Amino acid sequence: MQAMVLERPGAPLSFKEMPDPLPGPGEVRIRVAACGVCRTDLHVLDGELAEIRYPIIPGHEIVGRIDLAGAGVSGLAPGQRVGVGWLGHSCGICPYCRMGRENLCDRPAFTGCTRNGGFATMAIADAAYVFPLGEADEDAALAPLMCAGLIGWRSLKMAGEGRKLGLYGFGAAAHIVAQVARSEGRSVFAFTAPGDTKAQTFARELGAVWAGDSDRPPPEPLDAAILYAPVGALVPLALKAVRKGGRVVCAGIHMSDIPSFPYALLWGERELVSVANLTRADGMEFLERAPRLGLHTRTRLYPLAEANQALADLKAGAFEGAAVLAP
Ligand SMILES: [Zn+2]
Ligand SMILES: [Zn+2]
Repeated sequence: MQAMVLERPGAPLSFKEMPDPLPGPGEVRIRVAACGVCRTDLHVLDGELAEIRYPIIPGHEIVGRIDLAGAGVSGLAPGQRVGVGWLGHSCGICPYCRMGRENLCDRPAFTGCTRNGGFATMAIADAAYVFPLGEADEDAALAPLMCAGLIGWRSLKMAGEGRKLGLYGFGAAAHIVAQVARSEGRSVFAFTAPGDTKAQTFARELGAVWAGDSDRPPPEPLDAAILYAPVGALVPLALKAVRKGGRVVCAGIHMSDIPSFPYALLWGERELVSVANLTRADGMEFLERAPRLGLHTRTRLYPLAEANQALADLKAGAFEGAAVLAP
């Protein structure tokens, strides 16, 4: 197979020809048709996550077809289209797994971080963590759903029932969550990097009732806000933007330090929480709903060998929506 491999933190990915991997017991081999590029991949590249194992093939928004199943796999057939996301495995026996919070598992595996991911023509996945995708929609359009969509869905649930929802950072996740929130009758307020009028226009096109600079207050108090941008300085701003009893959800896996802020911003029973990873139940719930939501994912396609360019463009904010690698 061909793969883009990260040898050490900070290095560019290198294109490699490797032997085709074989699935072990309980695993499947997938021929990758598309793999989304996520902000978390930038954190993997920069070595900002403690868990990473090198060398690693990044990529945790995999869409493809099963071509080989290991011993003991049932319910999945060769040729079937499936998706693989960030949660590659959980132990099933730690206290978190036992209380139904496998997203917090003490001994997890993360796709494209602790086990090889989808920046390749083939990927191995634990069959129990694979999502059947059906045949509707194109591979590339589905790929961003596997993380931006799934984590986005979990973060939206975490934000609660509030009608006025702020989204900080209008990239791959927010552009999907904005559409889901709108379908639920919520009003979306989109906050972008100051002066990023292209992203603000994009947010309005996707139904945001307001879009503006993240250092400015919204036109009215919000019920909840979700932070997708990895910028700690946004936390006090988001707390300032929500009403009493409002909630601020930090949805990224990594964030710069949060500056100190006056207690008055948290006072009034405002809540500040983080979202970590996802459970398979979140994934099933979202993927079951997604076809009925009429989601339009905006994607920019790159050949597999141009993964470094895709990552650079993501870092630079050079496109709206999501980057997708197609081998
Ligand atoms: Zn566990
Ligand atoms: Zn991701």
